[in-house]
Amino acid sequence: MTKKIVALGGDGIGPEVVDAAIQVLESMNLDLEILKPLCGEAAIKKFGTPFPKEAMDLTNQSDAILFGATEQASVIILAYLRWVLDTYANLRPIKYYEGVSTPIKDPEGIDFLIVRENSEGMYPGREGDISLLAEKLPDYKDLMGKSFADFGKGKFAIRIITEKGCKRIAKAACEKARERKKRGFSGKVTCVTKSNVLRESCGLFQKTCEEVIKGYPELRYEHFYVDDMARRIVRFPKDIDVIVTSNMFGDILSDLAGELMGGLGMAPSACIGDRYAYFEPVHGSAPDIAGKGVANPTATILSSVMMLEYLGMREKAEELENAVKAVYEEGKVLTPDMGGKSKTRNVTKAIIQKLK
Ligand code: ATP
Repeated sequence: MTKKIVALGGDGIGPEVVDAAIQVLESMNLDLEILKPLCGEAAIKKFGTPFPKEAMDLTNQSDAILFGATEQASVIILAYLRWVLDTYANLRPIKYYEGVSTPIKDPEGIDFLIVRENSEGMYPGREGDISLLAEKLPDYKDLMGKSFADFGKGKFAIRIITEKGCKRIAKAACEKARERKKRGFSGKVTCVTKSNVLRESCGLFQKTCEEVIKGYPELRYEHFYVDDMARRIVRFPKDIDVIVTSNMFGDILSDLAGELMGGLGMAPSACIGDRYAYFEPVHGSAPDIAGKGVANPTATILSSVMMLEYLGMREKAEELENAVKAVYEEGKVLTPDMGGKSKTRNVTKAIIQKLK
């Protein structure tokens, strides 16, 4: 049956890299219907809103969503995809492709997955004046016996970690590790928290992961604090199989880890929920290079590889990944972030040619 894809380019380089991915997908003659409703800045100009009803309705009926990036004025699109559609498991694979420039000396064989909780933690920002907390929680005292009133003027941010959120993300990570083990990976889940400081919220995350993994006897488990993990990603990237962590830690660690595979122009991601899924590059709208035609489309094209896998088109996904691989192995057509002089359209064309 034809799968319905909704492409939401958004802002900045978003539409440029999403268009590139669409061109590649269309060249593959797949059983996909790709719809491109207006959204982002272009929709604000025409309809006065970044996410018009037509785009939202199509999104609600989609089998998968291909998303670019948004700037602040269109952030409602991202909020909708993440929190209304409840796409709670953010999968960020870190995989080195031969020929890609990376700061690591011996990158061959780097291949791991970051599973980032995408629905809670510090997102969406829940902040306010400390005076509000002082008023609502007059009896609350921290570990040092300090009350909110003792701080004087300032701001707070709240971090939410729920049992349900921990359970489902731990399960998603274990399922991925199980799947990867069948493909020859080591079958290890690394839980990352800061439970030595955030004993309650990170404590719950860690404890839940430890409980959930008991249902997967074929997997190994370890736990590291987030500061230690940042160091390990740089020093021992090949020891990692699947990392599971909370929202903001996952966001930060995946930008760091993305450098191992060549940086933001390369790093793909998928956000999967029980009913909806959207696929986007790890990078943002990159306003500094928007409109110049030099954005690297690879991260979005690799996100499309993840989308094809999600849609059950595994062979086609592999074909597309191999085409990307071949372009980098050859190393002739590269955007400036990869040390080349080629444009977005040249890289797109080179990938399409490898598919033939
Ligand atoms: P956000 O807050 O939405 O993550 P940001 O401004 O922090 O966005 P990006 O938009 O991802 O970060 O850009 C960070 C840097 O990486 C910029 O210098 C940008 O030009 C570069 N960059 C991001 N994506 C690409 C890409 N696809 N190709 C080339 N350079 C990129």
